[in-house]
Amino acid sequence: MKTSNTAQTGGIPVLLDNHGRTIDYLRLAVTDKCNLRCFYCMPEEGIKFVKKAELLSYEELLRIIRMLAQNGLRKVRITGGEPFLRKDLMYFLRELVAIEGIEKVAVTTNGTLTLPYLDELLELGIRSFNLSIDSLDPKRFFDITRRDYFEQVWECYEVMRERDIDLKLNAVVMADQNIDDIIPMVKLGEKDNIAVRFIEEMPFNGAGMHYEKLEWNYRKILAHIQTEFPKINKLKDPKNSTSFNYQVEGFVGTFGIIPAFTRSFCGTCNRLRMTPQGMIKTCLYDDGVFNLRDLLRAGASDNELLTAIQQAISHRAKNGFEAEARRKGQASVSESMATIGG
Ligand code: SAM
Ligand code: SF4
Repeated sequence: MKTSNTAQTGGIPVLLDNHGRTIDYLRLAVTDKCNLRCFYCMPEEGIKFVKKAELLSYEELLRIIRMLAQNGLRKVRITGGEPFLRKDLMYFLRELVAIEGIEKVAVTTNGTLTLPYLDELLELGIRSFNLSIDSLDPKRFFDITRRDYFEQVWECYEVMRERDIDLKLNAVVMADQNIDDIIPMVKLGEKDNIAVRFIEEMPFNGAGMHYEKLEWNYRKILAHIQTEFPKINKLKDPKNSTSFNYQVEGFVGTFGIIPAFTRSFCGTCNRLRMTPQGMIKTCLYDDGVFNLRDLLRAGASDNELLTAIQQAISHRAKNGFEAEARRKGQASVSESMATIGG
């Protein structure tokens, strides 16, 4: 096992975990608030949102990211909650893209509020979007999200697919909910240059709904797609990819399946997560390693912040199963994905 530290690669520092994996990707949840209530992510009522004073401010976030960028961070994904609900997000993004070392900024959004910002996002060089849409049917969309926003999200899709961007559609696959959407969603790729990604449902619903087994796992999703499209080519998965990727013969777009519940992608995981309150997570399935905000607000220097992060990644679980087994608080995962950042 390698020890974790900031190693030098060609003179450039990189963060390495205790399994030799380079950490160069931060998934940052900028808010836990959302205007949808997707049932697999949030309960309908009774959510205690984070108070403003507990949120990391933009200046605090930028300081942390600058420090990480000097130590090998190259990619940041903005997620949430719904990122566009956070006030002055564009201010933050303008500052973020200007940080030396940050090569890519990506955004995951539910598409309800995104369109007015699209031109500016593209001008900033942000061209990688994950748009979440779990159903192409307005009624099913409402049943899943508990809000009536299908038209806005579909319009967002229609505008985005015409632009020169890297567009992925995220769809969580749920038994008895949106199975009938799988084939129509794959078919979007016949004409549209997009990547549809079917995500195994995880128990991060904030409502304590647990399950030991998952009916619609990636094998079943793939088998289902194969019954409709016998000629499917397996694509080479990009480095650090969390999805198994495919293309139906003759289609311009692709599709992928993310085994988020069965967790077969952990071996190459290059991610660090930070919640809106500054909790550092070295795995989606851990229950938070330490709070960087508290350290920062207690007056820690950049070096001390870096040391704390190095310490955290030097004890990183090998995979999501180990991370889940090590949880200190609630043994099984139950928090909302909106507080973790999907
Ligand atoms: N609100 C934005 C959105 O929906 O795209 C960003 C945050 S959301 C938490 C990020 C992604 O996590 C979405 O694609 C969503 O479908 C996914 N997600 C949320 N809860 C999930 C769960 N329990 N299992 C699998 N994926 C989930
Ligand atoms: Fe909101 Fe995204 Fe969670 Fe749906 S998945 S409730 S859009 S944060």
